[in-house]
Amino acid sequence: MDRRLILKNAGIAGVLAAGAAPAVHAQQAIRWRLASSFPKGLDTIFGASELFAKQVKAMSGGKFEISVHAGNEIMPPMGVVDGVQQGSVECCHTAPYYFYGKNEAFALGCAIPFGLNSRQMTAWMYEGNGLKLMREFYAKYNIISFPMGNTGAQMGGWFRKEIKSVADLKGLKFRVSNLAGKVLERFGVIPQTLPGGEVYTALEKGTIDAAEWVGPYDDLKLGFNKVAPYYYYPGWWEGGPQLDLLVNQKAYDALSPENKAILESAASYAHVDMQAKYDGRNPNALKQLVGAGTKLRPFPADVMTAAFKASNEIYEELNAKNEDWKKIFADFSKFRADSNLWFRFTEARFDTFMQNQKL
Ligand code: CA
Repeated sequence: MDRRLILKNAGIAGVLAAGAAPAVHAQQAIRWRLASSFPKGLDTIFGASELFAKQVKAMSGGKFEISVHAGNEIMPPMGVVDGVQQGSVECCHTAPYYFYGKNEAFALGCAIPFGLNSRQMTAWMYEGNGLKLMREFYAKYNIISFPMGNTGAQMGGWFRKEIKSVADLKGLKFRVSNLAGKVLERFGVIPQTLPGGEVYTALEKGTIDAAEWVGPYDDLKLGFNKVAPYYYYPGWWEGGPQLDLLVNQKAYDALSPENKAILESAASYAHVDMQAKYDGRNPNALKQLVGAGTKLRPFPADVMTAAFKASNEIYEELNAKNEDWKKIFADFSKFRADSNLWFRFTEARFDTFMQNQKL
């Protein structure tokens, strides 16, 4: 067969694999840096960027390499969006709601109180308008986004004292993230921001009364159960928080179509893997915590109801003052309503039945 025809038929990958021709279209080696907002110790979340980089390298035959840097290694955890926007790094892995101070709409690509669960969030992203709308928003920051991980519904955190009603929240110093803090402020909670590494000591000393982190697997490692006996659920502010790979638009545009596909596939692979890790690892950690004396408590019904109402009031306020929020939230809300209409039948019924059986 004519060699040109072989090239045409086999495509460059086949030809390279067969070693039949010099790499006519061989791509130049690409070296990127990824700044993570997370510490190495958070192996599930930080691990997602390592897995992503490993997949990119493998799929590109070693030609596209991304070095992964933990929070504070090359930039502070909360500096990564600026870093990607300015092009100091090509990409970052973060929880976008950290940046709601820049614009509240960042939170919609991650988690808001009483938002979507993990399955619903992934559906809104890939099948609904979520990814499209968030990308339109991120374009203002020269960023293109890719879903890359979800923790699933989180726990509501560790409390030194029992919470029996909304009244017990008054004056409570609670280490809790952003929008949940805004909601809880309305009931007299004093939200605290503390890096994960400082939470244990603050709880132990009583500088704070309560702290939320992630869920059993991550919380057990930090030992919060030793300094606060009550473990509340659910983390209604994080029903399915999504982590994102944020990529500098210019760096992305410079990639070949092959490398763009590799990047997208690797991010998607890491997205699935993170949820699997949490679902696989949380049960055993929960058993260990309860075995060591942790008291599991659901948030009282009046706390849930009041928090839901206050969250909706905040969303109405945001609709009135933030156009980006208003546009994305309208679609998010519609998807949330339809999705819950569906999930309440088969998913919820099946789960509830199974969880009530002796297995
Ligand atoms: Ca959390």
